[in-house]
Amino acid sequence: AKEAGRNQTVRFDPSMRVELERAVQLENDLRRAIENEELYVELQPQFDRGLKLVGAECLLRWRHAKLGNISPYEFIPLAEKSQLIDSLGDWVLEQACKLLEDWQKGTAFARLYLSVNVSVKQLDSPHYVGNVAKALSQHTLDPQYLQLELTENVFATDMPATVARMHELRSLGLRLSLDDFGTGFSSLTYIKHLPFDELKVDRSFVHDLENDEMNRRMVNFMVQLGRELGMCVVAEGVETPRQRELLLEMGCDALQGYLMDKPMAIEAFTAKYQLG
Ligand code: C2E
Ligand code: CA
Ligand code: CA
Ligand code: CA
Repeated sequence: AKEAGRNQTVRFDPSMRVELERAVQLENDLRRAIENEELYVELQPQFDRGLKLVGAECLLRWRHAKLGNISPYEFIPLAEKSQLIDSLGDWVLEQACKLLEDWQKGTAFARLYLSVNVSVKQLDSPHYVGNVAKALSQHTLDPQYLQLELTENVFATDMPATVARMHELRSLGLRLSLDDFGTGFSSLTYIKHLPFDELKVDRSFVHDLENDEMNRRMVNFMVQLGRELGMCVVAEGVETPRQRELLLEMGCDALQGYLMDKPMAIEAFTAKYQLG
């Protein structure tokens, strides 16, 4: 046991060692994951009020050679701690740009939006905006269909620098989305200064819509706030017909969730949606 404070000792719990060892191993393996071709992206479709396909979110997947699929909830935080997030993020953006370029070559998907998750850690890097500009310049694509999703952690950063970077990103012609709205550090003071085109109501709120009146009012408020500020409002994690109905009544512009479809491999997405 190690002395942790005056009156307190912390026992070394063997399960903590197992967790730590796994984290160390995963972090090491993640360095090689790109070159070992263990990473790929899945797409989850998004639908407008008429339930027509309007876009998709890119979700990163890691199929570890020995351990099988590792959840992004586990490896993204490890990547953020170790700076690997910059190269992972660049890799995902490259996949997204390739896909958009393909889609825009006159296919049925020419006007689909494609969203990419961006860690606030990536935005911290002075190279980030330049990397995005470079990725765009290497592909023939209309950037207004590319959307970068940032979480509310942006509100916990050095705001003037973040605001400046976000404006630079938007001046490249792409769109910015505020992900997981309602769960983090959003401030009504800042939100009006940030150039978000879209607001995504976090799925924890959507989940409780049916049984909790207070929650329903809060979601309604979030939807109205987004709309008042001129943003496109998307609800994520829609799992039941009743949730969909309530969200449409409140005025949501788009819906995403297992009720409509799960994330799937690009080939599956293409096969399923290109005709319909
Ligand atoms: P997120 O950005 O909030 O993505 C939505 C998550 O909800 C995805 O989990 C998706 O599979 C899941 N989901 C979609 N519809 C439903 C539903 O109806 N019900 C439920 N219960 N869940 C639903 P996933 O793919 O495991 O990703 C987890 C998180 O990992 C993402 O949350 C995002 O924060 C992060 N992530 C994923 N890909 C990337 C990436 O390329 N870069 C970064 N920085 N983060 C990523
Ligand atoms: Ca997201
Ligand atoms: Ca989200
Ligand atoms: Ca989330």
